[in-house]
Amino acid sequence: MTLDLSGRIALVTGASRGIGYFVAKELAAAGAHVIAVARTVGGLEELDDEIRADGKGTTTLVPLDLADLPGIDRLGGQIHERWGKLDILVANAGVLGTISPIGHVEAKVFDRVMAINVTSTWRLMRSVDPLLKASDAGRALILSSGAAHSARAYWGPYAASKAAVEALARSWADEAKNMTLRVNSVNPGATRTAMRAQAMPGEDPATLPHPSEVGKAIAALADPARMETGLIYDVPKKRFLAYRMPE
Ligand code: NDP
Repeated sequence: MTLDLSGRIALVTGASRGIGYFVAKELAAAGAHVIAVARTVGGLEELDDEIRADGKGTTTLVPLDLADLPGIDRLGGQIHERWGKLDILVANAGVLGTISPIGHVEAKVFDRVMAINVTSTWRLMRSVDPLLKASDAGRALILSSGAAHSARAYWGPYAASKAAVEALARSWADEAKNMTLRVNSVNPGATRTAMRAQAMPGEDPATLPHPSEVGKAIAALADPARMETGLIYDVPKKRFLAYRMPE
């Protein structure tokens, strides 16, 4: 079925490149108005140009460093003033930090990974929570990673940050389980982006899915008809997983 998001308002962080760029493009192609957030104005403008050329959705570009926590609060306030609601949140922006043994991780790198991947994501959740609840079918998608569960050697800070946002997403989903808001985490799987190249410099990027493929799969989860909540959507497996401890 064709995804129809006409009239819906979507906020996508990390929309200047990589996965977020293509999620934003797909949401716009389905008719959504996309509020695109990142620091790199050139990337946001390129997105805007492509969306205009497609002639379907529209954008509002928000150059913002997500380390600016009061800036995130102001963004929520501006969305409230202009639209009074938010239909779709894609909390996608993230940083890798460095791939190295835990004993070698610099404190400032650890702090940065936690600041952007966890604290900023929580702040964004807090800022838009009432706006998503004001929608008739709020959909929140929180980008995680298989690293949260595999917890492989040398991926410690990044893995911990993704485990943390998954826990936040699941708690948020549970709080909203009797409302129309649905909250899920997403594992995009290895994708051909700048972050993946930083993590695996020896890998041939051509062996990985292009972010446009992954973006399409993620955008489809914003469909108001999808009712799953509190789960993790695994893009490579094409299905929802429930990572729950046995009762
Ligand atoms: P990229 O590095 O290609 O893009 C990251 C995006 O996040 C950019 O748009 C960047 O924008 C934005 N961003 C980073 N820091 C900030 C900041 N301080 N303020 C605002 N925006 C920021 O990453 P990917 O597209 O690969 O990753 C997207 C998500 O998917 C991440 O959460 C990542 O952890 C997750 N993921 C990716 C995988 C992969 O293989 N690629 C695998 C598993 C998970 P700008 O620099 O312009 O601010």
